[in-house]
Order: sequence, then structure tokens, then C-alpha cells
Amino acid sequence: MMKSKRSTKYIFVTGGVVSSLGKGLAAASIARILEGRGFRITMQKLDPYINVDPGTMSPFQHGEVFVTEDGTETDLDLGHYERFTTMTADKHSNFTTGKIYQSVIEKERRGDYLGATVQVIPHITDEIKEFILRVSENCDIQIVEVGGTVGDIESLPFLEAIRQIRLDVGRNNAAFVHLTLVPWIATSGELKTKPTQHSVRELRAIGIQPDILLCRCDRAIPQEVKRKIALFCNISEDAVISARDVETIYEVPLALSAEGIDEIIMKLLDLPYRRKSLKDWEDLVHRIQHPVDEVTIGIVGKYVSYEDSYKSLNEALLHGGVAASLKVRLKWVEAEEMANGKLDSELSRVDGILVPGGFGVRGVAGMIEAIRYAREKRVPFFGICLGLQCAVIECARNLAGLPDADSTEFNEATPYKVIYKLRDLLGVDALGGTMRLGAYTANLAPGSLARQAYGEDVAIDRHRHRYEVNQEFLPKLTAAGLKVSGLSPDGKFVEIVEYPEHPWFLACQFHPEYKSRPLAPHPLFRDFVAASYRHKQGRRANVAFQDQDVVTTNPHR
Ligand code: GLN
Repeated sequence: MMKSKRSTKYIFVTGGVVSSLGKGLAAASIARILEGRGFRITMQKLDPYINVDPGTMSPFQHGEVFVTEDGTETDLDLGHYERFTTMTADKHSNFTTGKIYQSVIEKERRGDYLGATVQVIPHITDEIKEFILRVSENCDIQIVEVGGTVGDIESLPFLEAIRQIRLDVGRNNAAFVHLTLVPWIATSGELKTKPTQHSVRELRAIGIQPDILLCRCDRAIPQEVKRKIALFCNISEDAVISARDVETIYEVPLALSAEGIDEIIMKLLDLPYRRKSLKDWEDLVHRIQHPVDEVTIGIVGKYVSYEDSYKSLNEALLHGGVAASLKVRLKWVEAEEMANGKLDSELSRVDGILVPGGFGVRGVAGMIEAIRYAREKRVPFFGICLGLQCAVIECARNLAGLPDADSTEFNEATPYKVIYKLRDLLGVDALGGTMRLGAYTANLAPGSLARQAYGEDVAIDRHRHRYEVNQEFLPKLTAAGLKVSGLSPDGKFVEIVEYPEHPWFLACQFHPEYKSRPLAPHPLFRDFVAASYRHKQGRRANVAFQDQDVVTTNPHR
């Protein structure tokens, strides 16, 4: 039978009016604030779509797929959860309608329902409740974000399930936080509360009375507007919180805490009073807002027009900059458009070049050209996953005398399969899943950039790929100057490569961006940004030197 863990408190976060109001960020921020007050928290995201997981969804439509330590492909909001808190997400942290139905249908086929008619209520809703309550062990507060917008057909079973949980665990053990929009209408010069009223009415119609309203607004909401919202939405005035637009997402916990949300939650959930502690976070925001200088990184990728597709990468670069009090400017370069001639105009002013992960051949030619450029012009280079594979192909073609070398992902018929599906050959994937997913260990070579960055002999980072370096070609590649600086403990998988002769050139088969946190920037991002800044300073010195030169040769200038 399903049991609720009485000691755990629940906060359910829903969203109304429109999507993209930053529900994931709001949930993560609440978690950060409560963690700051000394509560043990865990977070979960429920996604109403039918896909069993987001692994197969297009990054153009759905943004990045976030990979957890245990190798689950999850929604990108899980990335916010990990970056804002100390939690490590796992396979229980995210589930979809598809996964719930899959589980219910498996049970039905096994005969677990003993001939009952299987229905949305209670079978689907019970399954949702079970998935939620399963992770309630070992935490004081569980924050559960319900994806989608109230009013969507798909989210109804989820809302019904959380309504029931509140009833099961009791008033003081669960709170409903609802995020809405309070738009500023320029023509009348007013803030409008009607969308919030409608959205709350919708929630109440299905039996959920929100306890806290987070009102997303481009400005602080005046008290009289809060009073009006409180009255119409049947909520106490101090529980109407302005979620105003802020400069950096990392400011959200500070803004919400300044509105007193943590005090209200502690009261609502009958939690013991604990003092506020956000000092480390305040320092972080101060450092983000007061950089000493800036550095520009060119990202040559495939999904560059849609920022969410490289969410964790974006954040990891920012963290790398924070480590040295630098603002990292990103120049997104569409790999497909990197035809010859455009290379110089696009990349001549960046201080470092990064080729991120991706799937399929589109853009690969441009990425290879960008890597050649970085190698030859001695611009710091960081390759991630597909970025490593392209770096190996570039080395094979242009340095190791293997023309038309390729990955079998792009050309099955290549004479030199420098990147191939190794695990197929090893028979590892015979039983289904074809991706190498989740955290694996790499042994790091002494004296390498990788060893220096991590400060230890091993790295544990997260993977998401099918193809690998073919070690048959290593003698040729290493003779050409490439060095393998990270290898799986069994020696079968190449994890990191570098050019020791280059100022900073490193490519890894894993995705280090998933593990970077603002208070603990990933060492590879930290060192790449630092190397790019050195490159920038070197260039500045050169320019100054050339200017001086001109002055000495041309006294009239
Ligand atoms: N497409 C490549 C592979 O499957 C790289 C994947 C990635 O960059 N995440 O191996």
C-alpha cells in the first residue's frame, strides 16, 4: 500500500497564464533558500508530455537534455535544481506521463490489478503519487514542480494527484505555490491582475487553493495590487510575492527571500524556525555583477539559434568566468555557415573557441574548420563530445595523413574510421540502450592540462554519446602531436585528448557542463576561460606593442 512519509513536507509548484515564466528557476530558488536555512531538500519535476523521457526530443523544441549522474536523460530544469542546490538528481527526479502510463500498463499486463478496470483515477493518479512519495526518504522538504500550465489537458492527472497528497499528508505538511504573470500594460500604464485571477480560479476549480502566489512581473508589485490579488484569489496578502525580472538568474533566490517567501513557507509548513543564510549566494551574485574584465568565447555549434539547447554549457561558461571575476561573452556561431572565408570574420576576435556536443552530420564540416583554425592560430580550444570527435577527425585529416578520415556517424564508407561505435563491437549494447550515458571515471595522464585542472588523477564526468575514438589510429594521431590525456580505467575508451604544444587545447568525450555549479565551477571550464583570458591579454600586449612600433617609425603620428 502507498504510505506517505509523515516527516517530509511537500511544496508543489505549478504555473499558470503562460509557459516560460521560469517555474523551474523559481522552484530551484525556493529550494536554495530553504537549504540555506539548514533544511535537507530534494526536488522533482513531473512532465505532462507523453514521451517516456526527453532523450528523443529535439533540442530545438525542448532545449537541452540534462543527463544525471546515474545516466537518466531528463528535463533541463533538473540542471537548475543541481546548480542552485547541493542535490544530485537521479532516475527518480523526473518523470513524464509516458513513464507513468508505461509503468501502469506493465502492471496491468502482469495482472497486478486483479481484473479491475484500469482508469486515470485512481490507477494513474496512484502511480503518480507513488512516484512522488518514493523519493521522500531522507529529506525535510520535497519540492515538486509540475510542468506545463494549469488548464492544459495533460496536466490534470498530476494536479489531481498532488491535490490528494495534500489531503493525505495534512494541511501543515504540504503547500501549493503557483507562479503567474502580472503584465504591465503600457497603453493604460497599469499592472493587470486578471490573468492571475483566472489562473487561480482554474486551479481552485480542480480543488487546489494556492497558498503562495509568485507573480512574475517586470517590476516590483505595489502593495495595493498585491492586496487586490490577495482578495480575489483568497490568499493572505503577505503570500503574494513579486517575482520581478532580475539581471541574472542567480539573483532569483535573493529576490524571493527579500520578499519573505522563506518565512511564509516555514510558517505554512510548521517548520522549526532556522536563521537565514545566503551569504555565499550574495557573494556569488556580487561577483557576477562586478566582473573585473571580460572575455569572449566563440561557440561553433549546431543549435546556436536556440539558447536553451545549450543551457548547461551557457551556465558552465558563466561559472568558469566567475572563478576569475570575468564576464564571459558568448559569440554563437552557426557551424553550417562557417564556409571558407567566413571563418576569419567570425572567429578572429574571439579569445577562445568551443565546439559543443551534437548529433548528425549537419555543421560538422564547419566545426572541423573552426578546430583547424584554433589549432593553427593557437587560440584556446575546448571540444565537448562531438567537439572531441571533430578534433580527432581534424587531426587525422590534416596532420596524420589520413584523408577523408571520418566518424561512421557521418560516413559509413570512410577509409579511416577514426570515430566508430566501439560498444557495438564489444557487444555492450546488445540489450537495448545504445548510448553511453551517465558518469564514468577517466584516468588522467601526468603532466596534462586535464590532470592540472582537476588537481587529481581521476575525473568523473557524465556522458551522452554513441561513438568513440578508434584506438587503432592512435599511433598515427599521437605521432602527429595529439596526446591522450584521459582514458577509461579499462583502457578501452579515449576520454580526453590534448595538443601539448598548443597553449590550451583540450577535448573531452564527456559533458563537463552538467556538473558545473556556480559555487563550484567545473575545473575544465575554469581553466579554459582563464586560458582564453591569457590569450586576450597576450593579444592586447601585441597590439600595444605594434602601436608603439608604429609610433617609433612614424614620428608624425
Ligand atoms: N553524435 C556523437 C555521438 O553520438 C556525439 C554526441 C554528443 O555530442 N553528445 O557519439
